[in-house]
Amino acid sequence: MLPFSLENQTAIVTGGGTGLGLGITRCLAQAGAKVVITGRREELLQQAAAAIGPQVIPMAVDVTDSAALPPFVDRVTREVGAPDILVNNAGIHVKKPALEMTDEDFNSVLHTHLTGAFALTRATAPGMLERGKGSIVFVSSMTAYMGMPLVAGYATAKSGVIGLVRTLSAEFAPKGVRINAVAPGWIDTPMLRRAVSADSERERKIRGRIQIEGFGAPEDVGWAVVYLCSEAAKYVTGVILPIDGGGHASF
Ligand code: NAD
Repeated sequence: MLPFSLENQTAIVTGGGTGLGLGITRCLAQAGAKVVITGRREELLQQAAAAIGPQVIPMAVDVTDSAALPPFVDRVTREVGAPDILVNNAGIHVKKPALEMTDEDFNSVLHTHLTGAFALTRATAPGMLERGKGSIVFVSSMTAYMGMPLVAGYATAKSGVIGLVRTLSAEFAPKGVRINAVAPGWIDTPMLRRAVSADSERERKIRGRIQIEGFGAPEDVGWAVVYLCSEAAKYVTGVILPIDGGGHASF
């Protein structure tokens, strides 16, 4: 078996029914994992799972509903298997000038990306730590490294993810659970299309930074997640891996 194989592993991907999460799910499933995809829309999740195959199992849950998360992890364990992999991918985007961004806008973004991802990690990690084995991947973003206007809440959340990854890695890696993040640049998903729509100047600027022509595909991030979750990365933890066509290395 190749060290990149995820045979006999159970994964959870939040926001797995669309965009980047769906691409990550396709890659994890191709690598051999059973993948539970979550999100808030049951029907969309069912359609996404059916399009890939029986190794993808839809189970709706809202990551901002902390009380629902421990029972959700129990259900995954009972019906599919104890989770070996968690991908904290679910996210929302609020694009507004800083002075127009309300507390509600700001907090809703932090709640989904940070509090929700942390709460699900808290519900999932104990089983992994007990078994001394597991891999958790967060999704940060290039906005954690670059000053981009109009995304104060989002950039704060994605920067917070980096602190979370390093802290959790320091706590969990000595016990066999690796914590890493991917930092996607501009990946062609509905969220990206919404973020650049009607803002051709922003799109032009973004495209100008990328060294490899064009936006990335969800699978470009998905294969990096497969690597981070596999035996091939058994000595890799606390890492924030940019997947951005060279965007962060550009001027
Ligand atoms: P998307 O809108 O297609 O996906 C977001 C997913 O999260 C959706 O499936 C949505 O249903 C789910 N979600 C939102 N709130 C949720 C909640 N409370 N509970 C459960 N699920 C919830 O957008 P995407 O571009 O695929 O984004 C996926 C992740 O990648 C996000 O964390 C985003 O910030 C990050 N990201 C995207 C890009 C990009 O260029 N597309 C770049 C960097 C980072």
